[in-house]
Amino acid sequence: MANCEMCGKESELFITDIESTRMNVCSGCAGFGKKIRRIEPEIKTHKQQKQQQKVEAAQKEPEIIQMIVLDYPQIIKRKREQMGMKQKEFARFISEKESLLHSMEVGKFKPSLKQALKLEKMLKINLIEDVEETKPEFAKTDSGEGLTLGDFIKKK
Ligand SMILES: [Zn+2]
Repeated sequence: MANCEMCGKESELFITDIESTRMNVCSGCAGFGKKIRRIEPEIKTHKQQKQQQKVEAAQKEPEIIQMIVLDYPQIIKRKREQMGMKQKEFARFISEKESLLHSMEVGKFKPSLKQALKLEKMLKINLIEDVEETKPEFAKTDSGEGLTLGDFIKKK
């Protein structure tokens, strides 16, 4: 907030015509002359601009997320078979529990990013992919989940 040019009070200011001189004064001092108009506080518009820039930046840069590839069970199993190992040996080789390896090979357990990274390095396989996060408005149209033919008819 700015200060009144007459009394110095910090307040909402008005452009006021006082004896033919335009001054920015508080509502109290504006009584000495002819009030022209209120000065819009600048701080607010500045904030709004910043917020808008933030929104624009978010729209321009889609978020890249790392995901475990869908066919990780086959990739791990194939690699193990290529190396001619049984699950027990292979589990020891990658220092994971045999039960965990089994769960991964049948697709019951999706490795964490950390685990997948370790496996990628050890086995020279690719388990992680970069995915552009879809925006909610697109996701809605992409998956027609929950929509039945009846829903489409009702909408028309
Ligand atoms: Zn004043």
